[in-house]
Amino acid sequence: MTLLWTLPDLVAATHGRPIGNLPAGITGISIDSRSISPGEAFFAIRGDRVDGHDFASLAHANGAALLVVSEGKLPALGRLTAPMLVVNDVLQALIDLGCAARDRSGAKVIAVTGSVGKTTTKEMLRHALSACGSVHASVASFNNHWGVPLTLARMPENTAYGVFEIGMNHADEIRPLVKMVRPHVAIITTIAAAHLGNFAGIDEIALAKAEIFEGLAPGGHALLNLDNPQFPILEKAAKAAGVDHVHTFGADPQAEFRLIEFVAGAQHNVLWASIGGQTLEIPMGAPGRHIAENAVSVLGAAHLVGADIEKVMHALATMQPEKGRGRRYRLSIGNSYFTLIDDSYNANPASMRAAISLLRDAVPGQDGRRIAVLGDMLEMGEFSSDVHAQLAEPLAEAGIEDIWIGGPEMAALNAAIGDSARVEYRGNADAMIEFVLGAVRPGDVLVVKSSKSTGFSRIVSALLDKY
Ligand code: ATP
Ligand code: MG
Repeated sequence: MTLLWTLPDLVAATHGRPIGNLPAGITGISIDSRSISPGEAFFAIRGDRVDGHDFASLAHANGAALLVVSEGKLPALGRLTAPMLVVNDVLQALIDLGCAARDRSGAKVIAVTGSVGKTTTKEMLRHALSACGSVHASVASFNNHWGVPLTLARMPENTAYGVFEIGMNHADEIRPLVKMVRPHVAIITTIAAAHLGNFAGIDEIALAKAEIFEGLAPGGHALLNLDNPQFPILEKAAKAAGVDHVHTFGADPQAEFRLIEFVAGAQHNVLWASIGGQTLEIPMGAPGRHIAENAVSVLGAAHLVGADIEKVMHALATMQPEKGRGRRYRLSIGNSYFTLIDDSYNANPASMRAAISLLRDAVPGQDGRRIAVLGDMLEMGEFSSDVHAQLAEPLAEAGIEDIWIGGPEMAALNAAIGDSARVEYRGNADAMIEFVLGAVRPGDVLVVKSSKSTGFSRIVSALLDKY
């Protein structure tokens, strides 16, 4: 098996002290003793709840080739006779290794941040660029202070394209991360009210995202959403950070990478886009206008890194929505079926609107209803009641009358919609599960959407279990 890191390179990058019967190198990196594969190094990271050092011997038993541990924890590891690399601080060692991975790499590197759509865009880039060369991309939403260095440190030397998701809940989080990644292209998907409780307002969210410009590789490109009201703030910040190449995408006629039209059909979705001076007609595997918006940024980034756009287009046609992010299920009920759109991964006002438009474009069966099953959007702070009540508008515009909502914050939407026999309100996820299981009928299309920790995704699992 090919080595990800030779031992000498690992030691040089981390300034570690190797002890024990050492391997020639490591084939991978893990921070989870449960999923480690033989040959990999286990980095004993200290998280909020657990300390990796408590699992070092388990990682060893599970086949770890090397344990990366901190000097201060050595006494606590007792008589463990595993090959080890002893460092001052394990997270810093991972960061140093990540930076070494970036230094040795000839990859074209793309970073993705934004309030929503990071993982969707990152997965689209992974899928699309895989048609053009080897891709290394973040796992899931590994986008934070350990996820980013872990992803970097795992990047094989011969990677053609590196794709990194960078996230934040607070100001000053993106800056150190992007300085490790040093992307050639930085995409900001969109600015929206996420984690709003941690910010004075949406302009401050934009400024926090703009930290991404501070780590661009020399001559790097910023790719920004021209449809965002915060675009001028971002453009100004990019200029202030010395970025010479600011590019735009979006439906705005002035956008450089432009979404000309998106048509959602029962069977097919088609995107017309202008990329590099050419008008392209692109069949899309995944439905949703927001997915098409992300796709335009993917095409733009691919163009900027010189990838083959023909190949990228073909890849987009076979792309399916990620789990919890618009994936569809056709479930049997009686001798018919209903459709479940699982968009339950997470929610904020922008992604709620995206989910409502997915439902608007969906085609119910005979006698079927289009039903929005919505739970609370969390972390909205003092803006919470307002942003919940404001969902009444997109629901009305989309003509959706069957509205099943649950959770304390959704009470504001319930009040805003007013009396209707087709609106159901329940206080929590459990009550909603019970109601939905009994109320779904043949021909219905349901979209389920809510913040992660509300438990609303259990509605999806309950429906999948029962039907
Ligand atoms: P996280 O911060 O939790 O990692 P993320 O930014 O990675 O989130 P995704 O997981 O890609 O976001 O998408 C979350 C939800 O946002 C999806 O279910 C979808 O509803 C919605 N979404 C994706 N792209 C867009 C977009 N461009 N505009 C609005 N909503 C979007
Ligand atoms: Mg994500």
